[in-house]
Amino acid sequence: MSHKNNLGTKFIHAGAQPDPSTGAIMTPIYQTSTYVQTAPGVHKGYEYARSQNPTRFALEEAFAVIENGKFGLAFSSGVAATDAVMRLLVPGDEVIAAHDMYGGTYRLFSKVYEKMNIKFHYVDTSNAENVAAAITPKTKLIWVETPTNPLMNITDIAAVAAIGKQHNCIVCVDNTFASPYLQNPLDDGATIVMHSATKYLGGHSDVIQGCLMLNDQELRDQLYFIQKSTGAVPGPQDCFLVLRGIKTLHVRMQRHCENGEKVAAFLRAHPKVAKVYWCGFEDHPNHTIAKKQMRGFGGMMSFTLKDDSIDAATKVLSSTKIFSLAESLGGVESLINHPASMTHASIPREQRIANGLTDGLIRLSVGIEDVDDIIDDLAQAIG
Ligand SMILES: *Cc1c(COP(=O)(O)O)cnc(C)c1O
Repeated sequence: MSHKNNLGTKFIHAGAQPDPSTGAIMTPIYQTSTYVQTAPGVHKGYEYARSQNPTRFALEEAFAVIENGKFGLAFSSGVAATDAVMRLLVPGDEVIAAHDMYGGTYRLFSKVYEKMNIKFHYVDTSNAENVAAAITPKTKLIWVETPTNPLMNITDIAAVAAIGKQHNCIVCVDNTFASPYLQNPLDDGATIVMHSATKYLGGHSDVIQGCLMLNDQELRDQLYFIQKSTGAVPGPQDCFLVLRGIKTLHVRMQRHCENGEKVAAFLRAHPKVAKVYWCGFEDHPNHTIAKKQMRGFGGMMSFTLKDDSIDAATKVLSSTKIFSLAESLGGVESLINHPASMTHASIPREQRIANGLTDGLIRLSVGIEDVDDIIDDLAQAIG
């Protein structure tokens, strides 16, 4: 029986096998660095925990299942997962990436990989024609984030995947904002899905972790080789926490979506609010594509005040009581963030503003608290 569309059943049972040594229903935290061999080279498939750990393997199986992929790989952070993908490239290769994406991805590309002679073309990927136009014979990777952080732009994954296939490029989609509950890029033709598991997959703001999911065996073997050779693996305790988080992803996401819709409507109707960025609005420029490739619109949104100054934004950011002022997102609790000075400070101001990320932009990760309390909190903070 296929559980392809029964997301709740899939998320609860993903990767879960009773522990073979005891029958423990939950995969134990195998807190070990090495495994005893009975004679040289005679072992149970486990030699050293950088290469093999049963808790991590259970999680990697779950990662594959939740993105409808064949393989999953876990990393010590989201950026470590991104870094592993970048290590598939060689000097001279070219990458097409979104001009509006997570600041840490931009930092890795521009500060670490540019000096290794990888060339980046930053385009507005929400129009797939821009991606096609930037392809050269040296393009090896197309990096897409959708919805984007923090402006909630949407890229048509199937359209970009088709361009990638035609030109033999890897298409990697950062699916952190949507989570596998709302969107499955492999089904739309992407080569690799990347997540910061720190966010919705973990879901409780208590772990840093990243992952890659994919279908191609050869690419999986290359990435596994990179994972063990460069060593950015998560510890077993962190793997256990993310395995636990995945079991409630569907109920958390349902509430994030319900609360998100109400908060977006509240903000849009507020006389002091200028613009709300949320892909669930019917007049969002990419709403049709969002509706086509997503099952819901989530709890991430950004907004600007009519007074788009840092001072006005700072007043809101410092006055909330339920929303905590912090980087990160996707946890059960609501967070408020100032991208220009926090998550996106590594993007030069001129470029930031040219991309539409103004000084006054405020980003919300709407949590799963009672929505009336969330809205009351925003109402008193905006004043
Ligand atoms: C947080 C985040 C990352 C980086 O992940 P870490 O786990 O912090 O290393 C990458 N992409 C997006 C969209 C993120 O929100």
